Amino acid sequence: MSTLLSIIVPAYNEEEVLEEFHRRTAAVAEQLQANEDIRTEILYVNDGSKDGTYAIMQRLCEEDERVSAINLSRNFGKEPAMTAGFDHAKGDIVVIIDADLQDQPELIVDMVKHWREGYDVVYAQRAERDGETFFKKATASWFYRIIQRISRVEIPKDTGDFRLMSRRAVDALNELREQHRFMKGLFAYVGYPQKALVYHRDARAAGETKFNYWKLWNFALEGITSFTIAPLKIASYLGGSIAFFAFIYALFVVAKTIIWGEPVQGYPSLMVAILFIGGVQLLFIGILGEYLGRVYNESKQRPLYYVEQYHQAKTARNKEE
Ligand code: UDP
Ligand code: MG
Repeated sequence: MSTLLSIIVPAYNEEEVLEEFHRRTAAVAEQLQANEDIRTEILYVNDGSKDGTYAIMQRLCEEDERVSAINLSRNFGKEPAMTAGFDHAKGDIVVIIDADLQDQPELIVDMVKHWREGYDVVYAQRAERDGETFFKKATASWFYRIIQRISRVEIPKDTGDFRLMSRRAVDALNELREQHRFMKGLFAYVGYPQKALVYHRDARAAGETKFNYWKLWNFALEGITSFTIAPLKIASYLGGSIAFFAFIYALFVVAKTIIWGEPVQGYPSLMVAILFIGGVQLLFIGILGEYLGRVYNESKQRPLYYVEQYHQAKTARNKEE
């Protein structure tokens, strides 16, 4: 039996680019079929789009036997949409790719080559970014550097979700059922032989990005809290050192009072100390809250997504025969 490749495409309001995306991806599928004897399943996940995205997917299902489609019950976000894709993908190898053509489908051919060399994970690493502001580039680069420093798993920099994974890597990933899904971290957590494929990321073909700065900030928080408890440790160390210096200072104040007496004074220093310690306390209560809130969410153990409808491609079904 020949190899089956599943290409997972999460899509939210992508009616403007979806057909073009499918045209290019289908061309890649044909090339793989001809040159490598690899069959393809293109698995679209409609993440509660409010436009005609799902209608296009349904039409593609009828026209093309390689197309599978999952319709989620509402918009869950890209991470749960990807998870739905990974859960339903039947391939021996699985590729995850954005629908907006920022990730070029043509790169899948090279990814497959590296997979043949024995790599379980081939991730696309951006050489440059087009169509993005200086500020976004700078913040993205800081984020990768910070997370690299403070977490144990090695998260490759300038790497998005676009990647190929072997069946065993996908099975490993599917065992991680946490609610707060920082995918870059989960991919790295799984491990296995990995290979970077450097590429030039295009600007969006059409439509608008769904990620504004507030979302990106929350995304960064997610990344940090999912993979390290370093901020909690900082609280202990900072608290410890402040207490230590406060003690020394207290000795000094007492000694000074005994020797020279104390005409009431020092309102500014008192104010500074109270405000500083108050601020630090509030900050760390906030950090505690970030972690506690996540513990709360995890403890509910809710399903990550609900499927409204699922159509399986013919190419994927044949595999079981
Ligand atoms: N996406 C999704 N659900 C969402 C938001 C985005 O499935 O709630 C999909 C979107 O359709 C696209 C991919 O995730 O295929 C990446 O989104 P986008 O291009 O907006 O992000 P960016 O490339 O700007 O990081
Ligand atoms: Mg995009």
